[in-house]
Amino acid sequence: MLLDNHGRKINYLRLAVTDRCNLRCFYCMPAEGLDWLSRTELMSYEEMLHICTLMVKMGIEKVRITGGEPFVRKDIMQLLKALSKLDGLKELTLTTNGVLTAPYVEELKQIGVRSVNLSLDTLDANRFFAITRRDEFAAVMETMEQLLKHDIDVKINTVVMAGKNTQDIIPLVELTRQLPVSARFIEEMPFNGEGHSYSGIVWDYVSIFEEIRQAFPDIQKTPDPQYSTSYNYQIPGHKGSVGVIAAYSRTFCGTCNRIRITPQGILKNCLYDDGVLNIKDLMRLGVKDAELEETLRRTFNTREKDGWQAEQKRLENPNFHESMATIGG
Ligand code: SAM
Ligand code: SF4
Repeated sequence: MLLDNHGRKINYLRLAVTDRCNLRCFYCMPAEGLDWLSRTELMSYEEMLHICTLMVKMGIEKVRITGGEPFVRKDIMQLLKALSKLDGLKELTLTTNGVLTAPYVEELKQIGVRSVNLSLDTLDANRFFAITRRDEFAAVMETMEQLLKHDIDVKINTVVMAGKNTQDIIPLVELTRQLPVSARFIEEMPFNGEGHSYSGIVWDYVSIFEEIRQAFPDIQKTPDPQYSTSYNYQIPGHKGSVGVIAAYSRTFCGTCNRIRITPQGILKNCLYDDGVLNIKDLMRLGVKDAELEETLRRTFNTREKDGWQAEQKRLENPNFHESMATIGG
């Protein structure tokens, strides 16, 4: 079992396979995109499989593939298939914007993917365009339909943004009446790739929940699974569920079980830190697994207590302009 210096179990890896994306969500990256990583800067699939194999041996039980958009990376199913065969890996899952995903749903089901996080900030095609700067709403809805048809759990991730999509909160909750989806509302975080920093947010987890509670006064709290980052709820009679994620308020750091690897192979002990170890470079230098494992264990022992401390250190770097797509959200 892997433990950090605060006694927290680490068993969940989020692996970002690319920084590239076919959408341009304004809260994630600028309209012109990012300064994309070159092929050699990216970890190869072999390198990803290598590090995942080692980490699963060390105690990682769940891997989430994310990005950027996983499906814009060529042959992504090859990596997913290889990961699905890893001994000891209990759960393989992914986060996708759903634009290119529909044709792969059947294969995802075949390799044992049981749950997918689908990012969708609105149920209105015009607002979808305003937020993502691309006209792909119909493709995302098609992916949702395919996932449900194949009996794959769907968690809809919605970033709540003042003046942009707060009118979508209730319609998205309403979706849970007939569909067995989990509608999850996420506080906006300061990772839009433009160095925009916040002194706070208007729509935090308290106001988001209050908005929902007013429309659905009989909403009930349900038990939060171990390591859950969301506060979970259910509305009597609804097939789906509702979640609120305090991603900016960071109420969940005390039980954080997750680490991240960025598309360029940098280990992050926390979403809010600046990267703590260049795993790709170590692998390319030919460092043996035993030494790599030792280095990883040492690094997990330097984990900040929470996202506030991690952010404090990161902000000491004045040139820091991170996008969620390079972090692996
Ligand atoms: N492209 C895929 C997608 O959108 O699902 C995977 C990567 S995306 C970076 C992962 C998640 O991060 C998405 O659900 C997205 O909404 C969320 N995200 C991106 N920027 C964010 C921000 N500034 N604050 C909160 N969530 C953000
Ligand atoms: Fe792309 Fe996901 Fe970022 Fe939107 S949130 S720009 S879909 S990586």
